[in-house]
Amino acid sequence: MAGNGSRRVTDSRFDAALQVLAELERAGYQAYLVGGCVRDMLLGKRPEDYDVATDALPDEVQNLFPRTVPTGIRHGTVSVLIGGERIEVTTFRTEGAYLDARRPSEVRFVRSLEQDLARRDFTVNAMAMDRRGHLQDPFDGRRDLREKRIRAVGEADERFREDALRMLRAIRFAAALRAQIEERTWQAIRRHAGLMTEIARERIRDEWNKMLRADLSISINYLAASGLLPIVFPDISPRKVKASFAPHQGGEAARSRYVGTQDFVAERWRQAADFANRLPDKSDLRQAALFWQLGVDEATVQASLRRLRQPNSFVRSVAAILRAIPDSDPLTWTAETWRGYLYRHGKQAAIDAMRILGEASEADNGKIGRLLDKAIERQPIWSVRDLAVDGQDLIRELQIPPGPLVGQILTELTEWTLQHPACNNRQHLLAAARVLYQHWKNGSQKV
Ligand code: ATP
Ligand code: MG
Repeated sequence: MAGNGSRRVTDSRFDAALQVLAELERAGYQAYLVGGCVRDMLLGKRPEDYDVATDALPDEVQNLFPRTVPTGIRHGTVSVLIGGERIEVTTFRTEGAYLDARRPSEVRFVRSLEQDLARRDFTVNAMAMDRRGHLQDPFDGRRDLREKRIRAVGEADERFREDALRMLRAIRFAAALRAQIEERTWQAIRRHAGLMTEIARERIRDEWNKMLRADLSISINYLAASGLLPIVFPDISPRKVKASFAPHQGGEAARSRYVGTQDFVAERWRQAADFANRLPDKSDLRQAALFWQLGVDEATVQASLRRLRQPNSFVRSVAAILRAIPDSDPLTWTAETWRGYLYRHGKQAAIDAMRILGEASEADNGKIGRLLDKAIERQPIWSVRDLAVDGQDLIRELQIPPGPLVGQILTELTEWTLQHPACNNRQHLLAAARVLYQHWKNGSQKV
């Protein structure tokens, strides 16, 4: 593509997209890169994927390329498999369907690029580029991108009534691009925030997850000021938010009037976002940091994440990180405390929890991290599987009858090893197991 010398020559996905454009043009159609990839290219960022828009109809696209998948054929999207890549090709369309609230199965294919761009959400997402690098930018998206402004295409009120998710998208793009939401667009969001309750939780989740990895302070500011925050997190009611960080000005009486109010909650969310923002952009870590700063209890954490339809693995790892944040100061821990801690919480949750603690302690200077690294390096066992003996050994060598007793003895051996890490060898552990087994046989029936 002309004028894009900085592009890495090895971007095979980009090459594949160019091939698709060339092929469509050769067959007499119009073809453009559109949407997010054009925005990212103008920012000098490497796009995740390249979307192509064309006036060719879906079956014409399918006939033109030897390998295609009808990904979203009803909406005009065909995936073209080419050069080991998969490029989404979508026929120019409008979404008049939204106006009478029907499903977008009613999309109308159109012949002009401009109509297709007009259905898109924001000016920065409504640009197209042909394969020679010529920009089509009827809504001045490039200027908004340069001046860091998120502006709805067309009448903002109407666009949010058509699809309320766009309000969250506006905030998400503002956070990702460190941009401001343009005034009219912003006022429309404030007016229509309530419509968000009608949007599928999965769509809200996808936007929220992208916010977690962008500038959280920007997102939370807009979410709080628009009234969207309690819609994204309805479980975090004002009384669930702990007051520990509330300002003390104005005396105790003023303070207790303030705690629990919407202003108080918004302020606490902003503090939490500023905090989480300082952590690496790992979603579970940042989500845990937000909840921890807000001081919400574990049941509320789980309810919030499940309501957002977050996958179980995500809910589990956020909960694990929160559980791994200790009440005592790790700087005072003995080697044995560290061993028990790492064993109980596992490596990843421990690392993330300590990142949160380190960030929260102004005087830390990486001390906690260094202690953690040392403890991880020296950790003798991470699970019962790391013991130098297993259940079969106990059954074979000590004639312990198979059954729950074997598991109980193994559990004792892990505790023993965490107290005496040098003892994690076959000889020591079998000797210890023998003692435990004798003890059990001698009547206590308890190891
Ligand atoms: P990302 O880099 O996060 O993928 P993106 O701009 O590619 O950002 P997508 O959600 O992948 O965002 O959508 C691709 C394009 O489709 C957008 O750039 C925009 O032009 C259009 N689009 C997506 N969702 C909507 C929507 N709800 N309303 C209008 N246009 C939309
Ligand atoms: Mg995209």
